[in-house]
Formats: sequence, structure tokens, C-alpha cells
Amino acid sequence: TPVIVWFRSDLRLQDNAALAAAARQGPVVAVFLRCLPQWQRHGHGANKLDFWGRGVAALRDGLTGLGIPMLHREIDDFAEAPATLLEIAQRVGARALHFNREYPLDEQRRDAAVIAAFGEAGLAATGHHDAVAFAPGELLTGKGDYYGVFTPFAKAWHRQLTPERIALHDTPAPQPRLAIDPDPLPDLPTLEDTPVDGRLWPAGEDAAADRLERFLRFRGRHYQRQRDFPAIRGTSELSPYLALGMISHRQCLQAVLAENDGALAEGDAGLTAWVNELVWREFYRHVAVGFPRVCRHRAFQRHTEALAWRDDEADFRAWCEGRTGYPIVDAAMRQLVATGWMHNRLRMVTAMFLSKHLLIDWRRGEVFFLRHLVDGEFCANNGGWQWAASTGTDAAPYFRIFNPTTQSTRFDPDGTFLAEWLPELAGLPGKARHAPSNDLIGGVDYPAPIVDHRAARARALEAFKALKTD
Ligand code: FAD
Repeated sequence: TPVIVWFRSDLRLQDNAALAAAARQGPVVAVFLRCLPQWQRHGHGANKLDFWGRGVAALRDGLTGLGIPMLHREIDDFAEAPATLLEIAQRVGARALHFNREYPLDEQRRDAAVIAAFGEAGLAATGHHDAVAFAPGELLTGKGDYYGVFTPFAKAWHRQLTPERIALHDTPAPQPRLAIDPDPLPDLPTLEDTPVDGRLWPAGEDAAADRLERFLRFRGRHYQRQRDFPAIRGTSELSPYLALGMISHRQCLQAVLAENDGALAEGDAGLTAWVNELVWREFYRHVAVGFPRVCRHRAFQRHTEALAWRDDEADFRAWCEGRTGYPIVDAAMRQLVATGWMHNRLRMVTAMFLSKHLLIDWRRGEVFFLRHLVDGEFCANNGGWQWAASTGTDAAPYFRIFNPTTQSTRFDPDGTFLAEWLPELAGLPGKARHAPSNDLIGGVDYPAPIVDHRAARARALEAFKALKTD
């Protein structure tokens, strides 16, 4: 009897725990449930949805090559998932369902409802912890709590990691043809925003594998030195692929092991720094499960809920549209809107600028990022925003407020990145691009800063000092 694999954000054939487990039990039928209205309610925008759609199409081609038919359904709400999957199980005569778990709260609840519904129907549904080395709850502090700070989490992660935890799963062998026809894939309906040029982000596991290989061959060993400079392509740009599972963290870690004499925590400084980022990714997934309030739009640091955020629409729009008068912030925001991706250093700079200099609620920035990011992923995005706003785990102490101009001169010393995204400043000498004062730029059409750094910093400090700690 056939076994169903329900694909979600794990769009690959290789090293896929659910697919490998299903293929051991019988011929596989793949299912994809497109849940656009709910994904949009969760804030995912056109870039991610477009990439997701193209990823499903690439997956379907791969599955066809293995003789696995893919069924496709449209649902409006996660609540429809159990009945839809049961209907498919009955139709194809399947007795078991496998899927890889997702960790935000609504996704956990949806999956629990599916497991319960299958159980009631006398069918087996199994959720695999495929996107993490340790299932949430497997790594706990000495007191038995989830970690709320990264460094001890990372130490425990390395200490307890065994080779089996990151061993690759087999890709299934081609199977005899089933008497089940695949469904045609529907087009993406017209969305409010137009997605960025898809050629920037070719979908599928081949494109992901290619990126990983190129990164490790040319940039991995320089990662530590280059990762903070947005004008250099020093990072992997694998985040969209990891977010939708077109590549797995195990494939990334195995590739590092092969390059780094079998080590993850020691050896080449660039490669080990990169591994650390993959551990951050896992950390924020554990946080989402261990502290579900973060999935309910709440601050991790409860006392910061009382912060008196400013409600200033004009400032918020200036930030969104890259018109703050701080070139590094504006260039970064334009990179985000034009490409669906922003360099990590600049995510920190822009998020801190919104939440500290403008003192605007980090949740508004979180929503804006998710709407534009092709790698938009709840756990990492929420974790990053709460870090920048000093409301989260490892929160940057509230008094540590990046000076955007200093960040700019340190991490884009020649103003190359600024010139790329702010052509109106390209005519200025590189060093003058960081803080083009009005009289200097004369006829150049670039706004004056919307806030003064020192005054804005003082305002943010006041607001944070007024909070009572727990
Ligand atoms: P690399 O430097 O090559 O890192 C490799 C991988 O590690 C990344 O692809 C990503 O999967 C993971 N990773 C790296 N840094 C982090 C981090 N700080 N937290 C969690 N995982 C990390 N990342 C997302 O994947 N989706 C998001 O929606 C997202 N939103 C963010 C919002 C803010 C405010 C901040 C500060 C960070 C956010 N990040 C997010 C984390 C990070 O900025 C991106 O993962 C990274 O810039 C992606 O580029 P890369 O693939 O070249 O990363």
C-alpha cells in the first residue's frame, strides 16, 4: 500500500527524513497543500510565495523522475489540513503519512491535529525532526529549561552532537509506476506585490547544491573575515534554500566536515564561524517551541512589553522606502525591496535603526521584512528582530545602539555598497557617501537625516530606562 509524504518547507529529494522513511515502507505518493490565504495571514509576501511555487515545481519534476506522483490541493486555512489529507489517504489507499516538522506555533498545532485525526482514523502519521540536529526539548539547561541564551546552547549542541544526528538520509530509488496521476500545478494567483526577478533565486535543490559548492570552494575559508562587508559576496546566500528546505543543514554540515578535516567546532576559522550561523538557525527554532509567546507577537523579555513605542507613520514609511537620510540604512532597505534579501550586518543595522533611533515597534519591522524577504522564516526573523530591539534572547543590551554612520564607515569603508544602491550618491567621493550633509551634496537629491543620532539614542535610552525589569 502507498505511503504519503506531505511536503511543506522541505522541498528536496536528497537527505529528506520523511521521504526516506516513507520510501522504506512502500511506494510513495507526494502531497503538497498550498495554503496561500493562511501563509499571507502569516505575513509571507510575493517573493517567498513565488520562490515556494517554483520550488514545488522543481520538486515535482524530481519526484516524477523517481516515479512518485504529486497530488496538489488548495486550502484556505491550516484547519482544513487533517480532512484534506485523510481524503487523499482514502483515495489512494494509503495507511501511513510522513512529514517533516515545522516549529512556529500554528504549524505545530496543525501538525498535532493531523496526527490526532489520522490516529482516530486508525492510520499512522509521523512527524520527523528533519530541520534540526536536536529536536526542541532535547537540549536543555541544567535546570531542565529551554535555553534562552545562545552561547550555552551552542556549547551543548557541539558537546552532544553525534555523527548519527547529522548523517544523511538516503534518496529513494525510482519506484514502479503507480496508477495515480499527478495533479497539474496551479499558477500563483496575482499577488498585491510583484515578485523580484526569479533569476536572482533559481529554485530547486540543484541550484542550492551549486550555491553550497561555490560558497565552500571560493568563500568558506574567508567567511570570518568577509561576512560583515555587504559590498563583498562573503556569505553563502543559502538562506532562501535553507528556509524552504531545498537544501538541508545536514548537507551543509557534511560539506563542512569534508572541507575541514572532519571537524565542525575547530579547524578553519571561516568554516567554523559559518557552522555557528547554522546553530543560530537551530537555536531560534528551539526558542519558538520553548517560549511560544514569541509566536504570539509577544516579547521574549516580558518587561519590554511595556515599552512606549512611537507611533509615527511618516518615520516608518521613510524607513520602509529607504529615505531616512542615513545612507547605510537606505541602501539596505533598497537592497531588500529590490532583491528580496538583505545582508545580515544590514539586517542588524536597519532593525536597530527602526526599533531604537525611530523607537518604532519591532513588530512592524518584522512584518515588513517578512513581506519582502525571499528567505522569510518566522523563527530567524523574529529572533533577529527581538535581538535588535533588545526584547529577545541574548538581547543586545538596550544601551548598545549602533551608530549607523560608524557601521557604514567600518563595514563599507569605500562606500561601494552605498553607491550600488544609492546611485544619487555615486558621484561623491567614497568616504563622503556615509554622511552626505546637505551643504556638501548641494544639488544631489538625497534627504537630510530624519533623526539626529545622539538625540535619537538619548530618547531610546530614556524609554528603556523607564521599564521595570522583572
Ligand atoms: P550565511 O552567513 O551564509 O549563513 C548560513 C545560514 O545560517 C543562513 O543561510 C541561515 O540559514 C543561517 N543563519 C545565518 N545567520 C543567522 C541568524 N542570525 N539567525 C538564524 N539563522 C541564521 N534569516 C532567515 O533565514 N530568515 C529570516 O527571515 C531572517 N530574518 C532576520 C531578521 C533580522 C532583523 C536579522 C538581524 C536576521 C535575520 N535572519 C534571517 C538571519 C540572517 O540575517 C540571514 O539568515 C542571513 O543574512 C542569510 O544570508 P546567508 O544565507 O548568506 O547567510
